[in-house]
Amino acid sequence: MVQNKTTKDAVLLTSIALVLWPIAILYNFHENLDAFMDANESLQLDELFTALCIVGLLSLVFAARRIRELQSEIRLRNVAEQNMDWLAHHDPLTGLPNRRALAERQADADPFREGRWVIYSIDLDGFKKVNDLVGHQGGDLLLKDVAHRLRNALPGAEVYRMGGDEFLLVSPRSEHMDYAHAGQHIARLLCNPYDVGGMTSEIGASVGFALFPEDGSDFKDATHCADVAMYVAKKAGHNSVYGFDRIMEDRALRRAETEMALKSAIRDNQIVPYYQPLIDLKTGELRGFEALARWKTGPGQYILPSDFIELAEKAGLIVELSDSLLRQACRDALQWPPTVRLAFNISPTQFVDRQLSLRIIAILMETGLPPSQLEIEITETALVQDIEQASQILADLRKSGIRIALDDFGTGYSNLSQLSKFTFDKIKIDRSFVMAYDTDKKQEDIVRAILGLGQGLGIATTAEGIEDESQLAFLKSIGCDFGQGFLFSKALPAQEALSLIAGRGERDALAS
Ligand SMILES: [Mg+2]
Repeated sequence: MVQNKTTKDAVLLTSIALVLWPIAILYNFHENLDAFMDANESLQLDELFTALCIVGLLSLVFAARRIRELQSEIRLRNVAEQNMDWLAHHDPLTGLPNRRALAERQADADPFREGRWVIYSIDLDGFKKVNDLVGHQGGDLLLKDVAHRLRNALPGAEVYRMGGDEFLLVSPRSEHMDYAHAGQHIARLLCNPYDVGGMTSEIGASVGFALFPEDGSDFKDATHCADVAMYVAKKAGHNSVYGFDRIMEDRALRRAETEMALKSAIRDNQIVPYYQPLIDLKTGELRGFEALARWKTGPGQYILPSDFIELAEKAGLIVELSDSLLRQACRDALQWPPTVRLAFNISPTQFVDRQLSLRIIAILMETGLPPSQLEIEITETALVQDIEQASQILADLRKSGIRIALDDFGTGYSNLSQLSKFTFDKIKIDRSFVMAYDTDKKQEDIVRAILGLGQGLGIATTAEGIEDESQLAFLKSIGCDFGQGFLFSKALPAQEALSLIAGRGERDALAS
């Protein structure tokens, strides 16, 4: 721009000079000026003319210098623009081209259109752990090494860094290339140990691949297919390598649709707590309700938690869902007598959240339900993932007056020494033992043993899944404290739970 204007000015001024010059010669400008100056010596015009000549000469020097300065400024600006362009299209840490570079390459003239390619979508496993362990500087070193390994993984391949720990490797296809084998080679390369500032770190890699042009109508489409295959590989774990398959996409689409539906169901409070009564087996009194999630899809129709909790966990919606359910359950429980407790299940995946106890307590404060009326049910799985964090969360909850029940006891992988690190207020015997006790002597022994454990530790026990009178009689005979199951009631909507409380109240009043 500047250069154009300067050139224009120079051309204009030179043209004017070229026009003026012959005119001056034609009219003997210099001779006439001399004669005029001689004739009017008293005006000292010759001195003025000399001064003008000197100024003119100096202006010429100034102009030449300015032009040189301008040229160097233009050069610097061009370099800066090139640098900016490089930064916009590359990841500064690894020097690899980024997602934008790939998108622009595809958009321009799609240079990939010519030829046959295999696209590997690569996602590192356990990178976050390394970052936590050795800090961000260590994490950066590891990423640089990953980029270096990928650059040398397949001859002639282009490598892109697509985001945090996601990479894309685009390789031209050779005649006898074994794509899965090449993918395994990439995964193996990335799984070798890394030297991170004197420490040795290891990560895993999930690899998915797709072929162009077979798997996508354009290159972008094929890249998406490689990503879909990578998600399947990630789900399979253990540094898996998967090639794209149409079925994968259908599944991914269905999952995405269900995820969207789940998201709006949570937002619109379509997932509500139902309440299953907890009965005191010694007195027959109603002592509480366990809140169980139901996704209402129509009048009298609902989806059971087994069909959506796992999805909520995978989609990162579990915190939102759990908070919404607890809030609704606390509001419902406010209408119950203080002797009727609310039992609420917390999923093991929520235990990675350090703020879990704070969030539960905040919801109690917000709704006004006394902490002593809430019992949190957790499974062994929640405890063994990160024992220290779990014990901190449980200690915080107990300190605030919330009770803790160990759910589905006997089905997890914890051992007694791990469990002895925690304090519980209740143990719940899993329904599988209760339901099979009369046909399987071993199961009966387990029920007795768990009960003995509870009694030894001075902890109350609840038996789940009581469905008939003989089970009830057996559990009563061995001194089980509480029970729940279809024999008493299925899980009820909030209004019916209230009616049940009222009905029992009237019955008790009549009896006394
Ligand atoms: Mg439970």
